Amino acid sequence: MIPFFPPDLFQADRDTLVEIVHRVGCGPQQRFILGDCTARFEEALATSLGARDVIACGSGTSALTLVLSALEVGPGDEVVVPAFGCAPLASSVVNLGATPVFADIDALTMVADAAEMEALVTDRTSAIMPAHMFSVMADMPRMREIAARRHVHLVEDSAVAQGALLDGRPAGRWGEAGVFSFVQVKTFGTAGEGGVVVTDDPDIGRIVRMLRNHGQDGTNRFLHHRVGYNSRFDEVLAAFQLYRLPGLPDRLERRAHIAAYYNERFAPLGDDGIVCPPGGRNGRCYYVYSLLAARRDELKQHLATQGVACHVYYPVPLPRQPAFSRFAGERKHWPNAEQASRTALAIPVYPHLSDAEVEHIADAVCGFVSARSLPAPQPARAP
Ligand SMILES: *Cc1c(COP(=O)(O)O)cnc(C)c1O
Repeated sequence: MIPFFPPDLFQADRDTLVEIVHRVGCGPQQRFILGDCTARFEEALATSLGARDVIACGSGTSALTLVLSALEVGPGDEVVVPAFGCAPLASSVVNLGATPVFADIDALTMVADAAEMEALVTDRTSAIMPAHMFSVMADMPRMREIAARRHVHLVEDSAVAQGALLDGRPAGRWGEAGVFSFVQVKTFGTAGEGGVVVTDDPDIGRIVRMLRNHGQDGTNRFLHHRVGYNSRFDEVLAAFQLYRLPGLPDRLERRAHIAAYYNERFAPLGDDGIVCPPGGRNGRCYYVYSLLAARRDELKQHLATQGVACHVYYPVPLPRQPAFSRFAGERKHWPNAEQASRTALAIPVYPHLSDAEVEHIADAVCGFVSARSLPAPQPARAP
């Protein structure tokens, strides 16, 4: 079986990880959070992104929370988020006492539809928070234009899009702040939890830095300017991510290469109800390669019989979740989000898949179509 989540994620890095645990664990400073490694990691990311500030914190979810909190999003405020996506898009807003407003998505790219997002902006809207989805970045030039014209904040949930470029500008640098997540399944996932806030705004950077450590400023310990959080970053993971950072472009390149091969193989399957994601490189991230399949559950079963494990992300749209349905208001339907929940199927795309495995996965998907186009078996004749 080719697993969907690789069990040997850091196999090539295991000795280094153990060496880092030993080095940090036995270091003279006995500094385990927010030390030199974290500072160097933040600097390395800021340099590679051309960003003014990068602040490491406890997770991608926490990064969203810190940004929204720095922007003083709270009770009475609305934040427009996609109706299709992961829970933190809504929970980060709800946990600050604000109200998520759900925008439908584009049927093909599965990212929030810009016109929908704008139509949902009211005088209570504090921010719009588009998210990049699977392999496609949201239409950030349009989101920027909407945020500027409607005088609302723009928070970029770029958790899945680290390393992607749209019109030459990196994911994470389109809003007043962006975020990345290092939970292990992400393209720059680590051996634990972590995230960062990316920003060019010195005030957001300064406030997020305080908020991640109980609202204290850097110099006066126990002087709390804001009601903060505990969202600090681990030194072992900072050293591990610093070590893995130079290899990231190659791993992203391998993902893009696999996705391009899939697209070539699957392009003819449209008439058979299997649609591949938009290809190319501009505004693409290849975190997850997700097909849209009319007979999604049958395809998933077929692939399992061929030894290919798949994954259904988000089988229930956010406003239909028990946790968030009370924020759905009068609206009853998000047709494209509902359709994506019924038809999206993610197949493996991680960089250490072998060429033979990639070919086998593609063959298995194509085999589903040819198996179905064979004439239906005739019932056995009675003797
Ligand atoms: C993974 C993810 C997050 C949250 O990241 P964590 O590190 O798991 O908290 C937020 N938004 C999106 C779009 C994600 O995919």
